[in-house]
Amino acid sequence: MIQSTMQHGALTISSLVEYSRRIFPEASIRTWTGEGFRDMSFAEVGDTGAKIANALTKLGVQRGDRVATFMWNNNEHQAIYAGVPSMGAILHTLNLRLSPEQAVFIINHADDKVIFVDASVAPMLSPYLQGTPHVQHVIVCNGPVDAVSAPEGVTVHQFDELIADESTTYEWPDVDETDAAVMCYTSGTTGDPKGVVYSHRSIYLHSMSITTTMGMGLSSTDTMLAIVPMFHVMSWGLPFAAMMAGSTLIMPDRFLQPEPLLAMIDSGRPTLAAAVPTIWQGVSAQLDANPQDISHLREVIVGGAAVPPAMIKKFDGYGVRITHAWGMTETSPLGSVARPPMGVETEEAEFAYRVTQGRFPAQVAARIIGDDGQAQPWDGESVGELEVAGPWITASYYQPEGNVVDESKFDDGWLRTGDVATITPDGFMTIVDRAKDMIKTGGEWISSVELENIIASNPAIVEATVVGVPDKKWDERPFVLAVVRTDEDTDIDAHKKYLEDLVPRWQIPERWSFVTEVPKTSVGKFDKKRVRKHYAEGDYTIIGDPEA
Ligand code: AMP
Repeated sequence: MIQSTMQHGALTISSLVEYSRRIFPEASIRTWTGEGFRDMSFAEVGDTGAKIANALTKLGVQRGDRVATFMWNNNEHQAIYAGVPSMGAILHTLNLRLSPEQAVFIINHADDKVIFVDASVAPMLSPYLQGTPHVQHVIVCNGPVDAVSAPEGVTVHQFDELIADESTTYEWPDVDETDAAVMCYTSGTTGDPKGVVYSHRSIYLHSMSITTTMGMGLSSTDTMLAIVPMFHVMSWGLPFAAMMAGSTLIMPDRFLQPEPLLAMIDSGRPTLAAAVPTIWQGVSAQLDANPQDISHLREVIVGGAAVPPAMIKKFDGYGVRITHAWGMTETSPLGSVARPPMGVETEEAEFAYRVTQGRFPAQVAARIIGDDGQAQPWDGESVGELEVAGPWITASYYQPEGNVVDESKFDDGWLRTGDVATITPDGFMTIVDRAKDMIKTGGEWISSVELENIIASNPAIVEATVVGVPDKKWDERPFVLAVVRTDEDTDIDAHKKYLEDLVPRWQIPERWSFVTEVPKTSVGKFDKKRVRKHYAEGDYTIIGDPEA
């Protein structure tokens, strides 16, 4: 065997920062202020990243220390993304929408030493600090130090003042590409949140996949509206991928409502955008009320929850293509992307591909495991739990005393996703449901996701979720919690009639309840756990309950 003559070339975040700083000084991060943008060029991101690293070094931060952020998507957050991992410390992004108990648990579990916080959310952070004895420094961004009230032992700094006199150069250490760079906890709808730790290498390779045409095709001629939060799986990896591709990023800061999002779209003219379906639901309602041309968006990447087919059609009507993608915190997150293959002739056939969760890139291996523990065929019909493996898929969960490979989550080196799926012979995956959300009625399975998509395709419905509830006769039956367009739309017979041609009779739900909003999780997905709890506690007015 002869040896390769190739160099090693470590895949590190500092190399990305230096690259973007030199090669793409014209690309920028553009943060919405409510009235317009404030810009930070990639050259300035690199400079600010180095200043941050110098300031943190003076505060005693060393390689491997955890530095947290409690922030929106904005310029400062991008500079922290650049500086913290490059200096060999570990960036820990805290989700702003966690419950206080979960936030305190995570800060302590990760042993965060420093927290950067946006002044607008500082009042939320202050009480947590009473229960996080290892935090030594809090750095307030976009506001004054007195935005935070901290207990004794914690020093509070103002971001701009802290870095003002620091040098714009920092000798980035030679980290090993497999070293930890960023950590993020799963949203934890069940049990304690679990820590996933990304390496320099995994982030670098994942960034490359975002720039490929299998991924998002992100390039230096793109402006990407990154709505998906930097505190949720690194904004789907966009802050790093943008440094590699030289694309401009529009950051919404705290302005996540449909109206300001549309103002950003109008004023910043993005070519791409990325967010979960609930965001686009709101944008669509706003667009219908106040039409606006958004057709300069060449593509909108939607994932994090199943995209209702009706939404894809709706956006086709605006001249904007929705591309459906699937991923998880554990998968960095980009797993599969739905891009129809070559040679599809009719629009209908193309649509059938677009509503799937898509194909996996070469780097992500996938299989579906049936109830018998065996890998199922890729025939588009056989159902099993989706398992994935690859260089940006986690192999364990973080624990201070040593990472753990919990058997309920891993199977012989593969990540068990908890998603139930089918895969076609040509590799298109469709998520049928979360394993725990499938509804078993009279011995037959109903996919709650499929049913809610069909229910929501009725124009009278704004949004709808379906959960299984106990039933004396059938063990479990689907219950619909929906938001309707007008007060006249609460006749359940009309809704049931609508479903008659679309689903088998036995799947048509008896129990319905109408509310003003479906509960959502910290990352904007239907919170089925809370819906089940409210149902069990009798909090909903149920129409059509056969047992009432
Ligand atoms: P999270 O780690 O919070 O991003 O959640 C990951 C989970 O979100 C996956 O395991 C899926 O259950 C769900 N998910 C993500 N993308 C999709 C999608 N396109 N369709 C259906 N479910 C999705």
